[in-house]
Amino acid sequence: MSTHQSRPVRAEAVVDLAAIRHNVTTLRARAEGAQLMAVVKADGYGHGMVPVARAAREAGADWIGAAVLEEALALREAGDTGPIFCWLTTPGEPLEDAIEAGIDLSAGAPWEIDELAIAVQDRPARVHLKIDTGMSRGGAVPEEWPALIRAAVREQATGRIEIKGIWSHLASSDEPKSTANESQLATFTEAIEVAESFGIDAEFKHLANSGATLALPETHFNLVRPGVATYGLSPFGHALPSAELGLRPAMTLKARLAMVKRVPAGAGVSYGLTWTAPRPSTLGLIPLGYGDGLPRHASNGGPVQAYGARRAIVGRICMDQCVVDLEDDDAAAGDEVVLFGPGTAGEPTADDWADAAGTINYEIVTRLGPRIPRRYV
Ligand code: PLP
Repeated sequence: MSTHQSRPVRAEAVVDLAAIRHNVTTLRARAEGAQLMAVVKADGYGHGMVPVARAAREAGADWIGAAVLEEALALREAGDTGPIFCWLTTPGEPLEDAIEAGIDLSAGAPWEIDELAIAVQDRPARVHLKIDTGMSRGGAVPEEWPALIRAAVREQATGRIEIKGIWSHLASSDEPKSTANESQLATFTEAIEVAESFGIDAEFKHLANSGATLALPETHFNLVRPGVATYGLSPFGHALPSAELGLRPAMTLKARLAMVKRVPAGAGVSYGLTWTAPRPSTLGLIPLGYGDGLPRHASNGGPVQAYGARRAIVGRICMDQCVVDLEDDDAAAGDEVVLFGPGTAGEPTADDWADAAGTINYEIVTRLGPRIPRRYV
């Protein structure tokens, strides 16, 4: 969405690309000996896919991870020529362009191998075998491994596919002590052995997301796939804040007050009048709402930094706007407030918003919509 450059913006998400580079460097050091895939799906968790991918490459990310084909192809169109892995396709999706663009794709069932083989034109499809190690999302469960592996071996022999990797995903790495991690790791190791018994020695073996990259070194193999930590957010939330992990949150969400008004005690605020001023109050109108991705569940409590103090959203968050209780601040329309940022200057964090909305920091940043311009610094 375009903004008139000569005028101050209504609201903006400032994305610190130096923080992204710092986080990639930190994560690489945590996974020494393994390659690193920076996961930039869902528009770089709301930060902007292409700028984040560029910053991550500058800091040495070996791979870029995307969920869907449109994302992977957009990265190629933006000039990214390095390894890209894309893992989520549906039956009948046209795979030709991605194969021709040299994008590594995932297959977790024999029919997915068939679809890849059929779509091959001038160059073989680069394939990573997806193993379901217990999360019951995508991939082959143990009884399905032989069929998947046989299909892959058959098409590798025809020259239509190249088996580049074997991979899985952890359900509970945000709880490093969960026994589910051990169990998934054991199942993954077994899958690798079964593949080897069929003569497949995949070059890349990968299992670790952010939580595992940071806390479970035994899951690193030779490639890790951190997403949320790339953006400086902790996969462990408040239990282990990003600063303690050496990560720097990259995004700051700011807005300018659209209006300021003084209301008497007893004034009701926003739809349903769910908040009533307990005293004469100064209210600020923030020109952001759930249409921009603010969670409506953070009504009556979402934190805001205004004039150096921690204030709260009062009343319901509307589609385009919400109201902050500035208490008795000397406020003026046009003044800036901060909804969240790294937290280093006393502003709330994405984790604080997640608490107010009953969700996780991932969702707070990822759901921010296209009406909020991203500014890169
Ligand atoms: N790998 C896959 C397959 C994913 O789906 C995701 C995101 O959910 C990631 C890696 C990155 O996960 P996280 O953001 O927890 O690091």
